[in-house]
Amino acid sequence: MRKIFLSCLLIFALIFSCGAAKKSDDRKRMGIFISNFTEIGLMNFDLENKISDDGVLHLGDPDNMHELIRFGIAHNIINNKKLIGKCKRKGCEFGPDTLSKEAVASSVKKYFDLPVKHKSIKDPNDYPPFTDFDGKLYHFDKSEWGTDTVYYADVQRVEQNEKILTMSGELYDFNNPSDRPATFTAQAKPYTWNKKDTWAILSLNVEWK
Ligand SMILES: [Zn+2]
Repeated sequence: MRKIFLSCLLIFALIFSCGAAKKSDDRKRMGIFISNFTEIGLMNFDLENKISDDGVLHLGDPDNMHELIRFGIAHNIINNKKLIGKCKRKGCEFGPDTLSKEAVASSVKKYFDLPVKHKSIKDPNDYPPFTDFDGKLYHFDKSEWGTDTVYYADVQRVEQNEKILTMSGELYDFNNPSDRPATFTAQAKPYTWNKKDTWAILSLNVEWK
Protein backbone atom coordinates (compact mmCIF):
# COMPACT_ATOMS: atom_id res chain seq x y z
CA MET A 1 0.00 0.00 0.00
CA ARG A 2 2.79 2.36 0.97
CA LYS A 3 4.55 1.54 -2.29
CA ILE A 4 1.42 2.42 -4.26
CA PHE A 5 1.07 5.64 -2.30
CA LEU A 6 4.70 6.59 -3.02
CA SER A 7 4.30 5.77 -6.73
CA CYS A 8 1.21 7.95 -6.88
CA LEU A 9 3.10 10.74 -5.15
CA LEU A 10 5.91 10.42 -7.71
CA ILE A 11 3.45 10.51 -10.61
CA PHE A 12 1.77 13.61 -9.17
CA ALA A 13 5.17 15.27 -8.72
CA LEU A 14 6.09 14.49 -12.34
CA ILE A 15 2.79 15.81 -13.70
CA PHE A 16 3.10 18.96 -11.60
CA SER A 17 6.69 19.68 -12.66
CA CYS A 18 5.84 19.04 -16.33
CA GLY A 19 2.96 21.51 -15.98
CA ALA A 20 5.29 24.14 -14.51
CA ALA A 21 7.92 23.55 -17.19
CA LYS A 22 5.30 23.86 -19.91
CA LYS A 23 4.10 27.11 -18.38
CA SER A 24 7.59 28.66 -18.46
CA ASP A 25 8.14 27.30 -22.00
CA ASP A 26 4.89 28.97 -23.10
CA ARG A 27 5.97 32.28 -21.56
CA LYS A 28 9.31 32.01 -23.31
CA ARG A 29 7.53 31.41 -26.65
CA MET A 30 5.21 34.35 -25.96
CA GLY A 31 8.23 36.53 -25.11
CA ILE A 32 9.84 35.65 -28.45
CA PHE A 33 6.54 36.41 -30.19
CA ILE A 34 6.24 39.90 -28.61
CA SER A 35 9.96 40.57 -29.21
CA ASN A 36 9.30 40.35 -32.95
CA PHE A 37 7.54 43.72 -32.62
CA THR A 38 9.67 45.40 -29.94
CA GLU A 39 13.01 44.50 -31.57
CA ILE A 40 12.16 46.73 -34.53
CA GLY A 41 10.70 49.49 -32.35
CA LEU A 42 7.03 48.78 -33.11
CA MET A 43 5.70 49.54 -29.64
CA ASN A 44 2.24 51.13 -29.37
CA PHE A 45 -0.35 49.86 -31.80
CA ASP A 46 -3.61 48.05 -32.28
CA LEU A 47 -5.48 46.72 -35.33
CA GLU A 48 -8.37 49.18 -35.22
CA ASN A 49 -9.41 51.18 -38.25
CA LYS A 50 -9.92 54.65 -36.88
CA ILE A 51 -8.29 58.02 -37.07
CA SER A 52 -7.37 59.42 -33.68
CA ASP A 53 -4.66 61.34 -31.92
CA ASP A 54 -4.27 58.97 -29.00
CA GLY A 55 -0.62 58.14 -29.67
CA VAL A 56 -1.58 54.61 -30.74
CA LEU A 57 -0.79 53.44 -34.25
CA HIS A 58 -3.97 51.93 -35.74
CA LEU A 59 -2.72 49.29 -38.14
CA GLY A 60 -6.23 48.44 -39.34
CA ASP A 61 -6.39 51.90 -40.96
CA PRO A 62 -5.56 51.51 -44.69
CA ASP A 63 -3.59 54.78 -44.45
CA ASN A 64 -1.14 52.93 -42.21
CA MET A 65 -0.44 50.10 -44.67
CA HIS A 66 3.13 51.44 -45.00
CA GLU A 67 3.74 50.57 -41.33
CA LEU A 68 2.82 46.92 -41.95
CA ILE A 69 5.14 46.91 -44.98
CA ARG A 70 7.88 48.42 -42.81
CA PHE A 71 7.32 45.60 -40.30
CA GLY A 72 7.64 43.00 -43.09
CA ILE A 73 10.92 44.45 -44.32
CA ALA A 74 12.50 45.14 -40.91
CA HIS A 75 11.46 41.69 -39.62
CA ASN A 76 13.13 39.90 -42.51
CA ILE A 77 16.31 42.00 -42.31
CA ILE A 78 16.77 40.78 -38.73
CA ASN A 79 15.32 37.26 -38.85
CA ASN A 80 15.58 35.99 -42.43
CA LYS A 81 18.89 37.36 -43.69
CA LYS A 82 18.99 34.74 -46.46
CA LEU A 83 15.90 36.29 -48.07
CA ILE A 84 17.59 39.69 -48.50
CA GLY A 85 18.83 39.92 -52.09
CA LYS A 86 21.19 42.17 -54.02
CA CYS A 87 19.67 44.85 -56.21
CA LYS A 88 20.30 44.42 -59.94
CA ARG A 89 19.07 47.87 -60.91
CA LYS A 90 21.90 50.10 -62.11
CA GLY A 91 22.53 52.93 -59.65
CA CYS A 92 19.44 52.12 -57.60
CA GLU A 93 18.72 55.21 -55.55
CA PHE A 94 17.02 53.19 -52.80
CA GLY A 95 20.04 51.10 -51.84
CA PRO A 96 21.75 47.79 -52.55
CA ASP A 97 19.17 45.47 -50.94
CA THR A 98 15.92 43.83 -52.04
CA LEU A 99 13.18 41.64 -50.57
CA SER A 100 10.34 39.87 -52.39
CA LYS A 101 6.73 40.96 -51.92
CA GLU A 102 5.93 37.37 -50.92
CA ALA A 103 8.35 37.55 -47.96
CA VAL A 104 6.84 40.85 -46.79
CA ALA A 105 3.26 39.54 -47.12
CA SER A 106 4.12 36.25 -45.42
CA SER A 107 5.60 37.97 -42.33
CA VAL A 108 2.65 40.36 -42.01
CA LYS A 109 0.18 37.46 -42.36
CA LYS A 110 2.11 35.38 -39.82
CA TYR A 111 2.28 38.02 -37.08
CA PHE A 112 -0.87 40.12 -37.70
CA ASP A 113 -3.16 37.85 -39.75
CA LEU A 114 -3.61 40.81 -42.11
CA PRO A 115 -3.24 41.09 -45.90
CA VAL A 116 -0.73 43.49 -47.48
CA LYS A 117 -1.47 45.97 -50.25
CA HIS A 118 2.00 46.43 -51.70
CA LYS A 119 3.31 49.92 -52.35
CA SER A 120 6.40 52.11 -52.20
CA ILE A 121 7.20 54.19 -49.14
CA LYS A 122 8.92 57.21 -50.58
CA ASP A 123 6.71 60.20 -49.86
CA PRO A 124 9.13 62.98 -48.85
CA ASN A 125 6.58 64.12 -46.25
CA ASP A 126 6.89 60.73 -44.57
CA TYR A 127 9.78 59.77 -42.32
CA PRO A 128 12.54 57.31 -43.32
CA PRO A 129 13.40 54.51 -43.90
CA PHE A 130 12.15 54.57 -47.48
CA THR A 131 11.65 51.73 -49.93
CA ASP A 132 10.66 51.43 -53.57
CA PHE A 133 8.29 48.67 -54.69
CA ASP A 134 8.82 47.67 -58.34
CA GLY A 135 5.89 45.24 -58.60
CA LYS A 136 7.90 42.24 -57.41
CA LEU A 137 10.66 43.44 -55.10
CA TYR A 138 11.12 46.05 -52.40
CA HIS A 139 14.34 48.08 -52.84
CA PHE A 140 16.02 49.58 -49.77
CA ASP A 141 19.25 50.06 -47.85
CA LYS A 142 19.17 47.68 -44.89
CA SER A 143 21.69 49.77 -42.95
CA GLU A 144 18.95 52.40 -42.55
CA TRP A 145 16.48 49.97 -40.95
CA GLY A 146 17.91 49.30 -37.46
CA THR A 147 17.00 50.79 -34.06
CA ASP A 148 19.54 52.22 -31.58
CA THR A 149 18.58 49.78 -28.82
CA VAL A 150 17.00 46.39 -29.40
CA TYR A 151 14.33 45.58 -26.80
CA TYR A 152 13.05 42.11 -26.06
CA ALA A 153 9.96 41.17 -24.06
CA ASP A 154 9.90 39.17 -20.82
CA VAL A 155 6.35 37.84 -20.36
CA GLN A 156 5.55 37.64 -16.64
CA ARG A 157 1.75 37.36 -16.50
CA VAL A 158 -0.69 35.65 -18.84
CA GLU A 159 -4.47 35.71 -18.80
CA GLN A 160 -6.69 33.97 -21.28
CA ASN A 161 -10.39 34.58 -21.72
CA GLU A 162 -12.79 34.28 -24.63
CA LYS A 163 -10.00 33.29 -26.99
CA ILE A 164 -7.96 36.42 -26.30
CA LEU A 165 -4.59 36.11 -24.65
CA THR A 166 -3.40 39.04 -22.54
CA MET A 167 0.33 39.05 -21.80
CA SER A 168 2.20 41.53 -19.67
CA GLY A 169 5.73 41.99 -18.39
CA GLU A 170 8.85 44.04 -18.93
CA LEU A 171 10.96 45.07 -21.89
CA TYR A 172 14.71 44.61 -21.55
CA ASP A 173 17.73 45.75 -23.52
CA PHE A 174 18.89 42.76 -25.57
CA ASN A 175 22.55 43.73 -24.97
CA ASN A 176 22.04 44.48 -21.27
CA PRO A 177 19.18 42.34 -19.89
CA SER A 178 19.23 43.98 -16.42
CA ASP A 179 18.22 47.25 -18.09
CA ARG A 180 14.40 47.06 -18.01
CA PRO A 181 13.11 50.51 -18.85
CA ALA A 182 9.49 49.70 -19.79
CA THR A 183 6.46 47.56 -19.03
CA PHE A 184 4.08 46.26 -21.66
CA THR A 185 0.66 44.72 -22.14
CA ALA A 186 -0.14 42.82 -25.32
CA GLN A 187 -3.21 41.06 -26.64
CA ALA A 188 -3.13 38.28 -29.18
CA LYS A 189 -5.40 35.60 -30.56
CA PRO A 190 -4.46 31.93 -30.85
CA TYR A 191 -3.86 31.35 -34.54
CA THR A 192 -2.71 28.60 -36.89
CA TRP A 193 -0.11 29.74 -39.40
CA ASN A 194 1.56 27.33 -41.80
CA LYS A 195 -0.01 24.42 -39.85
CA LYS A 196 1.69 25.62 -36.65
CA ASP A 197 -0.06 26.84 -33.51
CA THR A 198 1.01 30.40 -32.85
CA TRP A 199 -0.61 33.78 -32.10
CA ALA A 200 -1.56 36.82 -34.15
CA ILE A 201 -1.08 40.16 -32.41
CA LEU A 202 -4.09 42.39 -31.67
CA SER A 203 -2.47 45.18 -29.70
CA LEU A 204 0.70 46.20 -27.88
CA ASN A 205 0.98 48.95 -25.33
CA VAL A 206 4.36 49.97 -23.89
CA GLU A 207 4.85 52.28 -20.93
CA TRP A 208 8.30 53.66 -20.16
CA LYS A 209 9.12 53.63 -16.45
ZN1 LIG B 1 17.29 48.60 -55.95
